[in-house]
Amino acid sequence: MLVVKDLHVSVEGKEILKGLDLTINKGEVHAIMGPNGAGKSTLSSVIAGKDGYEVTSGTITYEGEDVLEMEVEERARAGMLLGFQYPVEIPGVKNVYLLKAALNAKREAEGLGEIPAPEFMKLIREKLAFMQMDASFLQRAVNEGFSGGEKKRNEILQMLVLEPKLAMLDEIDSGLDIDALKVVAKGVNSLRNEDRAVLMVTHYQRLLEHIVPDQIHVLMDGRIVKSGDKSLALELEAQGYDWLQEETA
Ligand code: ADP
Ligand code: MG
Repeated sequence: MLVVKDLHVSVEGKEILKGLDLTINKGEVHAIMGPNGAGKSTLSSVIAGKDGYEVTSGTITYEGEDVLEMEVEERARAGMLLGFQYPVEIPGVKNVYLLKAALNAKREAEGLGEIPAPEFMKLIREKLAFMQMDASFLQRAVNEGFSGGEKKRNEILQMLVLEPKLAMLDEIDSGLDIDALKVVAKGVNSLRNEDRAVLMVTHYQRLLEHIVPDQIHVLMDGRIVKSGDKSLALELEAQGYDWLQEETA
């Protein structure tokens, strides 16, 4: 589904990703861990098409297509979704309108018409209930005044409505209390199937107990320096990253 090869990315003239390789197959969940500033957000942002990153060499292929040739909205229509580490507030735009506009844009790309209003309201109420969110969140401006945990739930709500093929979730667990973590994990797990894939950035083994990944990768100094199964997260929790620094050096 996603193949990243020898990716080099600079931000403001500084090289952040320095030859990163990553392959994700359909049906798989991959977790990326690594120290602060390693380039984890840079990686998911570049794949999703966020502005401000310069790809100096390497390739990203999604379902056989050259991602770097695709506009950000083309990537979204092709089924990619980025759940932000820091979700943006959009004052003046009601949450429900954003969800509806995004869903209709996706449907249009699939050759479907606009979703009838009653059908949309039924869908959205179902997803809200699943995420244990109050209906009042629909009428509020997107993320405006939402607590950290509410913003993260809202990112997952968007994901459940849009049903992306490749969901990239950047620190979706940061700032969540235990109950919210379980709800967010339930949301992600509900989307798992053989046609979809998930790339999650996290610092905590705790999340990976609820969303068990097929592979864990450690991103350090702009590259994936180690990959493994979920036992790697336990090892990192116990030992931190220093031993890997020495190992890779
Ligand atoms: P991570 O998500 O692994 O903590 P990031 O990908 O957010 O790391 O950032 C990697 C490095 O790139 C950091 O040193 C960060 O300061 C730098 N960086 C990211 N965005 C910008 C920017 N817009 N301007 C300058 N430096 C940036
Ligand atoms: Mg980050």
